[in-house]
Amino acid sequence: MGSGHSHKTDKDRYLAVLKINFLMFIAELAVGLYSGSLAMLSDSFHLFLDTLAPLISYLSEFKFFGLSEDRIKKTVTQVSISLFFIVAGVIIWEAVSRIINPPELKINFWFFLVAIIGLIGNIYSFLILKKEEGEDYSIIRKLLSRHMLADAGGSIVVILGAIGIAVWNLNVLDPILSIILAVFIILAPFIH
Ligand SMILES: [Zn+2]
Repeated sequence: MGSGHSHKTDKDRYLAVLKINFLMFIAELAVGLYSGSLAMLSDSFHLFLDTLAPLISYLSEFKFFGLSEDRIKKTVTQVSISLFFIVAGVIIWEAVSRIINPPELKINFWFFLVAIIGLIGNIYSFLILKKEEGEDYSIIRKLLSRHMLADAGGSIVVILGAIGIAVWNLNVLDPILSIILAVFIILAPFIH
């Protein structure tokens, strides 16, 4: 800090990614509920879970509670992985009943706008976290940056699904893609 260098500290980066993920979570939750799209809701839950990792990385920079950074990270990783499994399970459960009887969805301009902003947010988060020229960055930042890039793939799935639904009225695509997104939520913490 105070090196006079224009680059942000890791703390700044985690906080920026946390804010982006949280704002996108709110926007996607609203559009997911309005449109009835389980795929959009799945992506919003994923974004909520994703606020946890940068939040912990950010908080661990303060080294408070007298707990070691390592201890905090381990505990939180265990809790968030359990949460990922629970959320994924609920999505798959709901998706299966929707495949049998797919509901009508309201896919409109707002849906595409939020989906595209979500994709841009993922890419922007990746750019904030990625290694800079000549920089020695932490493992946690490396994992987080790769994760954000992988999440851009999830956003593309949501957008492609919405195109299929809007163009061909294939409502069944939504629960099918939700299952893919749920599997992705489970796998995400393990993609290194
Ligand atoms: Zn993610």
